[in-house]
Amino acid sequence: MRYLLALLISLLPLTASAAPRVVADIAPVHSIAAAIMQGASTPELLVPATADVHGIALRPSDARRLSEADIVFWIGPALSPWLSDPLDSLAPQAQRIALTELDLPTLLPTRENAAFEAHDHDHDHDEHATDAPIDPHIWLAPENAIRIAAHMAQVLGEADPVNAALYQANATQLAARIEAASAVVETTLAPHANGAFIVLHDAYHYFEDRFGIAATAAISASDAAAPGAARLQAVRALIAETPNLRCLFAEPQQADAQARQIAQDTGLYLATLDPMGVDLPPGPALFPELIENLAASLAECLAKD
Ligand SMILES: [Zn+2]
Repeated sequence: MRYLLALLISLLPLTASAAPRVVADIAPVHSIAAAIMQGASTPELLVPATADVHGIALRPSDARRLSEADIVFWIGPALSPWLSDPLDSLAPQAQRIALTELDLPTLLPTRENAAFEAHDHDHDHDEHATDAPIDPHIWLAPENAIRIAAHMAQVLGEADPVNAALYQANATQLAARIEAASAVVETTLAPHANGAFIVLHDAYHYFEDRFGIAATAAISASDAAAPGAARLQAVRALIAETPNLRCLFAEPQQADAQARQIAQDTGLYLATLDPMGVDLPPGPALFPELIENLAASLAECLAKD
């Protein structure tokens, strides 16, 4: 009997390791995966929330994670072009899922100009029919996050049928949590529908679109490439001619010297928006808290006199 018990206990890690080894590229994607896998296993995070996902290099520890992965969930080459080749060479064995290629409820084109055209909130999301590439910040539309969660539950369930019901139940639970966070965001932002602000890089198109706010301009485009002199000039001109402009939002992942200088020259409040969740522990709770925090940061600055 004692022998049998010892045998059973020795088998437990084997049972646990039936769950696939999952790597996620950024903290929000990792958070969604962690929520789906809760109770079965834990995904690995490739890019720390402090890093600029648009332009970092792979570390040796990342290479190991990728080579050991069964499934890799990543946004796609539009967000992290540097990750395409390492994925092919280091994780040929893994199921590699680029989330921008899913049939998502909302896909928006990149906005190339520093100044954004006025939003039409009744449009039917067919803008990606244009030639402009897809804006890769897809996770900032909650409906996309819910769709991504459902897809992850399906993929994980196929790879690990023993836990398929758990993944599905977790996806349902996460969807409810994200809906609740969206309701909080709506309430928080309701008084600021006409608030005008500038962002450091064009990361929030999806969030703006979903929640009825609109950035006036971005210093850098959605690929976060350093702006040229003409673009900086255009941003400064816009600030001068937009009377109700109040805030300039920098980001923890990007150098803020330019934003700081512009804010100082123009008298805008300098605040911070975090699209990744720097101050949040990686894990299931990060994503819904991230979108609530975005709204809180926006509202806090836009409420200033
Ligand atoms: Zn970005």
